[in-house]
Amino acid sequence: MSRRPLVAGNWKMHGTRAENAALLDALLHGQEAYATADVLVCPPFVYLWEAARILKSANIALGGQTVCAESIGAFTGEVSASMLKDVGCQYAIVGHSERRALYKEDDALVARKFVATQSQGLTPILCVGETLDEREGSRTFDVIARQLHAVLDVTGIAAFAKAVVAYEPVWAIGTGKNATAEQAQEVHAFIRAELHKRDATIAASVRILYGGSVKAANAREIFAMADVDGGLVGGASLKADEFLKICAAAA
Ligand code: PEP
Repeated sequence: MSRRPLVAGNWKMHGTRAENAALLDALLHGQEAYATADVLVCPPFVYLWEAARILKSANIALGGQTVCAESIGAFTGEVSASMLKDVGCQYAIVGHSERRALYKEDDALVARKFVATQSQGLTPILCVGETLDEREGSRTFDVIARQLHAVLDVTGIAAFAKAVVAYEPVWAIGTGKNATAEQAQEVHAFIRAELHKRDATIAASVRILYGGSVKAANAREIFAMADVDGGLVGGASLKADEFLKICAAAA
């Protein structure tokens, strides 16, 4: 089955209004780079509304970097899936390793965020990935399976027909040390095989992105792997030229 590539930019907590508008403008002017790939950007929450206005009907989707598991109420500082939808988002990242590590989001909460995202018709991008200790202790597959099944057991496999999975080894995020194409492929194939145990058709159609120090110089080799369907890009998504080259590598 051919899966349309997806490249997602996670801007994290970077940029001013003016800088982010300029970045979007540059991406809009480089549309030929991603004619055959889906492109998504995830600016900080406060810039989403303006980003949606700048992008208008452009071929770039918007997503939240995280989302609240609750739908409404006294949850100071949180942003619900319906709010993301209201300002023009189509996606939300759930389970990013920074949320897991810094904000103590556990597997159960990630599963609830996944459900909350889909409840509003948004597509969750479920991040999974092992730490360096876990990899060196040969626990990579155990960790990935645990993170994946924590969601699957709550949602069932049907939910993955409208979801994206991102393999993001924690040791590769923001370190400049990417997984090799072979390391990425090995884990992506494992994720797809786990999904396949529940439904072969859905497993074949789910897009699995690689994230962790993706840059223009390594994107083509990683994206060429059979089970890698694009990337979730942090640092390199903040430079328009670099991000457009990564999009072109996926397209
Ligand atoms: C990320 O934030 O999800 C990420 C992969 O970051 P970087 O590309 O900077 O490693």
